Amino acid sequence: MCRHLAWLGEPRTVASLVLEPPHGLLTQSYAPRRQSHGLMNADGWGVGLHHPEAPPGAPPVRWRSSRPLWGDASFHSVAPVLWAGSVLAAVRSATPGMPADETAAAPFTDGTWLVSHNGRVDRSVLPAAAAVAAESTCDSAVLAAHLLDRGVDDLGTTVTEVAAADPTARLSLLLGDGTRVLAVTWGDPLSYLHTEAGVVVASEPYDDDLRWVDVADRHLVVATRDGVQVTPLGARHRAAS
Ligand code: GLN
Repeated sequence: MCRHLAWLGEPRTVASLVLEPPHGLLTQSYAPRRQSHGLMNADGWGVGLHHPEAPPGAPPVRWRSSRPLWGDASFHSVAPVLWAGSVLAAVRSATPGMPADETAAAPFTDGTWLVSHNGRVDRSVLPAAAAVAAESTCDSAVLAAHLLDRGVDDLGTTVTEVAAADPTARLSLLLGDGTRVLAVTWGDPLSYLHTEAGVVVASEPYDDDLRWVDVADRHLVVATRDGVQVTPLGARHRAAS
């Protein structure tokens, strides 16, 4: 499984989110604390951001790689001067059978949303159209295409339907469009930290700040600069679908 995080708030450097925290994604790439599947996340990494100086509606930019995060000297050099108020980043532990190139590394995008998936899903339960639209044959890319095609307003319902079609699926997710962070816990955990500067949602806390809140499994998180809402998924969404 992978480790990921999303930030929404005051512009800050990518290094301050990914490289510098005592237990940030860099550390989680080789020594995750709360990972239940896989020992490390050495199969690539990706960072996407909505740049503060981009014109409204401009697509997010991404920097992805199939190499381990700890070995990427160029990223370590540039990340301290890369600023953004909306960032989504991931380190990858590839699911067996999935492609190894950088296009299989999160975040995925439709030109507006950035999407990261922590888990696995049987691609045969997803619509053929999603496989065509996806950026990669990786299960996470196909899932991202399906979720974005269905629309983020139906995220909880769509996830619940996919889980019903593949009961072994693990479907934890992070999505960001620069104004909101949406997150789902389904099989793998997430925690969030809301401060005056903004909100971060992550697979595991990147430091020992006592304000981190763990999200229970099968919940939907909607985070804006103003606050964080957490609602249960499951029966209600099944009933609505
Ligand atoms: N299934 C995805 C992949 O192969 C995500 C894996 C994960 O969460 N470790 O990359």
